[in-house]
Amino acid sequence: MAANHNGTSNGTAPEAVEPGPTDFDVIVVGAGMAGLYLLHRLRGMGFSAVALEAADDVGGTWYWNRYPGARCDIQSVDYSYSFDEELQQEWEWTQKYATQPEILRYLQHVADRFDLRRDIRFETRVAGAEWNDDTASWKVTTEAGDELTGRYYVMATGCLSMPKDLDIEGADRFQGPTYFNSRWPHEGVDFTGMRVGLVGTGSSAIQSIPEIAKQADELVVFQRTPNFSVPAGHGPVPEERIQDIKGRYAEYRADARVSRGGVPVEESVISARLVPAEERNRLLEEAWQVGDLIGFLSVFNDTGVSLEANQLVQQFVHDKIKSIVDDPETAEALCPKDHPIGSKRLCLDDHYYQTYNQDHVTLVDLRKNPITTITETGIDTADSSFEFDALVMATGFDAMTGAIVAVDITGRNGVELKDKWADGPTTYLGLTVTDFPNFFAITGPQSPSVLSNMAVSIEQHVEWITDTLADMRERGFSVIEPTETAQAGWQQHTNDCADITLFQQANSWYMGANVPGKPRVFLPYVGGVGTYRALCDEVRERDYLGFALAGSDTTQCNDGVIAEAQPDVAMVTQMMAELGLPPIESMSPAEARAFMEASAEQNPPGPEVGEVVDGTYPGADGELEYRLYRPATPGPHQAVVYFHGGGWVLGSATSDDALCRDLCNQSNSIIISCDYRHAPEARFPAAVDDGFAAVQWAAANLESLGARPDPVIVAGWSAGGNVAAVACQTARDAGGPAIAGQVLITPVTDMDFSRPSFTENADGFILTHGLMTWFWDHYCDEADRSNPKASPLHGDLQGLPPAVVVTAQFDPLRDEGDAYAAALEAAGVPVQHMPLRGHMHTSVASVGVIISANGSRTAIADAIAGLARAGVPSA
Ligand code: FAD
Ligand code: NAP
Repeated sequence: MAANHNGTSNGTAPEAVEPGPTDFDVIVVGAGMAGLYLLHRLRGMGFSAVALEAADDVGGTWYWNRYPGARCDIQSVDYSYSFDEELQQEWEWTQKYATQPEILRYLQHVADRFDLRRDIRFETRVAGAEWNDDTASWKVTTEAGDELTGRYYVMATGCLSMPKDLDIEGADRFQGPTYFNSRWPHEGVDFTGMRVGLVGTGSSAIQSIPEIAKQADELVVFQRTPNFSVPAGHGPVPEERIQDIKGRYAEYRADARVSRGGVPVEESVISARLVPAEERNRLLEEAWQVGDLIGFLSVFNDTGVSLEANQLVQQFVHDKIKSIVDDPETAEALCPKDHPIGSKRLCLDDHYYQTYNQDHVTLVDLRKNPITTITETGIDTADSSFEFDALVMATGFDAMTGAIVAVDITGRNGVELKDKWADGPTTYLGLTVTDFPNFFAITGPQSPSVLSNMAVSIEQHVEWITDTLADMRERGFSVIEPTETAQAGWQQHTNDCADITLFQQANSWYMGANVPGKPRVFLPYVGGVGTYRALCDEVRERDYLGFALAGSDTTQCNDGVIAEAQPDVAMVTQMMAELGLPPIESMSPAEARAFMEASAEQNPPGPEVGEVVDGTYPGADGELEYRLYRPATPGPHQAVVYFHGGGWVLGSATSDDALCRDLCNQSNSIIISCDYRHAPEARFPAAVDDGFAAVQWAAANLESLGARPDPVIVAGWSAGGNVAAVACQTARDAGGPAIAGQVLITPVTDMDFSRPSFTENADGFILTHGLMTWFWDHYCDEADRSNPKASPLHGDLQGLPPAVVVTAQFDPLRDEGDAYAAALEAAGVPVQHMPLRGHMHTSVASVGVIISANGSRTAIADAIAGLARAGVPSA
């Protein structure tokens, strides 16, 4: 039966397929670290497989990149296979960072040890691959014109295997030899006595420059963009470390698999911004001496997400460069200033900066003096002409997608992968692509790949793919393809992850920025190796969530999206779950308050504001505390009366301190956080009576508070949103005071627990169904709960001030917030509704923790500023 798969990728179950015969179960392209392990594992699982490799031997990266100084930048004991205990016990790494020849020997040893070469066709470059819907198989064509068919087609072609075309004017003119680091001659190159011009200052260049300088008579380095580099501290692996790791390899590897970068590193809890300068420099100096790139970038917990923190680490490296390089102009040119440290691969070096202190080594800063052309005899720049005997091009790769789209891969209905990816790659899990059934990419774009110890990421992909194929075989499936929904969800998740980091601030090859014309999208997955592995596992545990599967008499399509929560929301909720803390609703109010206060001490402080004033105001039944936050800008400013969250039971005038500071600065308004009486000591309607009293007091005292003499804005989060909403209704009914707007952040608007958000988000997102029940029970009698002063959604909504209503996807209160926004709109109130995708109830309030809500906080502050400008009185 001819299979018609149209429709599988939009999530409907595919038709059953009757697969035709094929030569191989699996065709693998590439025999590097990935292809070798894949072949071994497929064979062990009883699949027939062949690997096609353009080179004449195994090794991939380590076959091609034989330039002087080439080494790994992840320590050898980590950058190695873990799949075979005997292999890892018997292999002895001689160097902390193994040299290229040693790594190549290792991979050759693996090929021999597992007898892999007999299934590898060397000197065979794959030119095309075409999916056949009728036979449910791939036809793969080599450059020599040979054809093979396979049920599954796996690109193990490497992220850094396709050299970038040389994009310099006159590239073909030079009459002497031009060497590319990425295709170095096997016999090596002796630069003795030569004048050498080298273009590039990426990892390859930084490794080779000190080595070439040892031989050449003259070395001129042409630098377009300086890179950050830390000293590797080369040497043998200390015997104690080898013995220690060999004694507990299983545990060590297990830690690596769940780590962020594929190397076990303790997660830092120290902020570069908050630690005193002396301690900061001491910690960085310690890491500088260790010589480990993941370690150096992991000294602080905010280097990758806060520009301010990152700049402090940058400054440390700049100071190092300036202390090493004698010539101040050269030192200045070597200091990277156009990108955050870590947003490009951090380089590891062996006396790189010191090399510029040698008389025969010169740095040309192409930013000041650009290359105009390569000539027959050398390189011309805008203001000089250089003559060379040899050129070295350390100019990098068309990374991550280059080797994949170099093959003409045609999927279902003639869809070409290179067309599909014309605006940037789209994948599900970085492993599979819609319209390309039975196609897999190892360490493909949108997987952790190049942001990790790739040995770990390669093994994880190989194992996931082969386990999936074995599972499919067992269950009678022969075709697998992701759905459009799943793929779009993954795209969203990978973008969400990248958005909270500084990676996109660099013109890096991670962004495709090094290749002219390549779309600028962030290519790898930055959520971390451990998180990624867990998501891939979850996809299989949820019976291939996001995949359509078909066999000769069975099909399934389990459509859906993995990882819908914002990455930092997922991180926080997972951390909370792991801590196994007692639920607040199991505590007494006094215990809960003490617990919340202790937890608040762990939170990062909010930003500085112009002035903070603590005072008291007359509540409905006595004096209550307030804290006023004034912007540093010249006043007078708009006044915003703010009510804190805490379910009417918890919290105080200072408990939302970080959010109030943030809103104050960003909206350029005075925020007056007014406390109210708490339940169970003072039950309904004490809180809302105090809320209205606070608004009356603020409106009557604008001048003495230093605020503009305009109607106040009323705002609140959670139960504070409820207090704010009720205050607006009360003010309208009382004929004043005038209110310019109400800003309700994930507010409580009634007590109906039957809405879907209460079921969907009942547990796991901090505010739970159980906690909400506890709050209501402490606050309000059953009989009073439908009173509009408890449930403002039940009130008359005509004539209320313009509203900003913020709701969050993973909040039990989402639907009641949505309902309030809709009801206000229906009542003719101008409403700005902000549904926050991927967020939970506490996201907006978690300043400095839920970074993905930064944009939402800015939007809320902008809305406050907008309400202030509009200044519409409500009564
Ligand atoms: P590769 O090793 O790139 O192998 C892919 C193979 O596919 C190649 O042999 C290629 O010839 C073949 N191929 C491609 N297209 C075709 C085709 N159409 N037909 C037939 N064959 C094809 N990562 C780390 O984690 N740590 C490090 O220290 C590190 N150092 C690196 C140093 C250098 C100089 C470079 C360039 C990369 C480094 N990397 C490092 C990344 C490195 O690429 C990976 O760690 C790993 O080696 C990739 O293995 P692979 O098998 O996926 O791809
Ligand atoms: P790269 O980081 O992309 O560096 C290429 C260099 O060439 C850059 O300095 C680039 O400048 C320059 N360049 C490119 N085109 C140019 C042009 N037309 N004119 C002037 N300069 C030009 O490439 P790479 O050094 O080969 O490294 C790629 C990746 O491979 C690394 O990031 C790393 O992941 C891996 N690698 C690892 C090691 C290791 O230590 N184990 C060693 C080598 C490579 P711009 O920055 O201005 O574009």
